[in-house]
Amino acid sequence: MEITYPFAKVFTDSTNKFNVFFLHDAEHSTFQQIGEIGTGIVDFCELDFSELQEKIKALETVEVTNANFEDIKKVYWNAVELLKEKHSYLHFFLTSDLFRNFYNVDRSEVEKVSYANFLFQYYLNLQAVYAEALEFCLSNEILSEYTLPERYVMFCNLYPNFMQYMLRSMYGIAPIANGRFDTNKLISFNDPDEVDTRKVLQNIHRDSKHAVSMWQYFAIQSLEEMFYLEFMEMTKRGIRIKRCGLCDRYFVLADKRKRDYCDRIYKGKRTCKQIGAKQKFNQSVEQDSFLQEFQRIYNRMYSRYYRMDAWDSDRQTNKMTEEQFKAWISAASKARQEYKAGVISGRELLKRIDRSKNP
Ligand SMILES: [Zn+2]
Repeated sequence: MEITYPFAKVFTDSTNKFNVFFLHDAEHSTFQQIGEIGTGIVDFCELDFSELQEKIKALETVEVTNANFEDIKKVYWNAVELLKEKHSYLHFFLTSDLFRNFYNVDRSEVEKVSYANFLFQYYLNLQAVYAEALEFCLSNEILSEYTLPERYVMFCNLYPNFMQYMLRSMYGIAPIANGRFDTNKLISFNDPDEVDTRKVLQNIHRDSKHAVSMWQYFAIQSLEEMFYLEFMEMTKRGIRIKRCGLCDRYFVLADKRKRDYCDRIYKGKRTCKQIGAKQKFNQSVEQDSFLQEFQRIYNRMYSRYYRMDAWDSDRQTNKMTEEQFKAWISAASKARQEYKAGVISGRELLKRIDRSKNP
């Protein structure tokens, strides 16, 4: 399939960052280094879409006419604007998706609105799938009896589409030296005629180990492609995730240093890391016996539910249904969140998951 604007060129290198050229149209592009790899997808999974959902839900009963089409369009654009400061690339790709839809001459106005609705619903569903993928394949606290390759293969057995996904890859000259993207050599210009191409190429060539400093990049056109690329790079590099000891949301473990808290704002201007470290300075999360017991029960439930299915779908087990499992996980996660926020005691935490085991 042909690539159309807007799209992104994503170069990976030996660092845990993506080097991204966002190409808005034939003349305008912006460059951004996005990292750590994994943050984009974890942040997407932890994003609260309820405000956006409300805006769009209000449209459900509205009949699309020539007269109100522009107003309806505005609702979608405004909904996407809500995400602008909240995520590194979500806004760019959702805007691109909407742009391609609303300016598609082959679609009627009714079709455009219905496609926009489909798009949002599609990404909400994708959020659930990727949240599961992250926990299943890359969480430090779950399925620890399996290696990462085993966990990845088990996950692909549950979601076979993951193995068949395709990305488009192209070649381009890029300033990469010693396996790293050299941002100092990026040039910005307003008029392409002002660029001394010969000089630029010589400059790029100087530190390159290749005859032509040619590098493979991914041409990413949709949000879904970007998520897939990021998830695969995380899995390939073994980038793990962990739940924050305070806000309970997942964060990316960028290196081998021991970390219990994330860098998100918790209260006022202070982050979980700043508050968490002070609150529990003489007790790490690992030493919390209630959380330990919680994790033991959670893991047991998790393994019991997934183990058989993931390795062999024909095997009959008398385990709980998917619905029961998801309900238990969601109740347990809520209890854990409240415990970390200091709303309920450790005893209450364990009581709650015990009760919800036999609802
Ligand atoms: Zn946090």
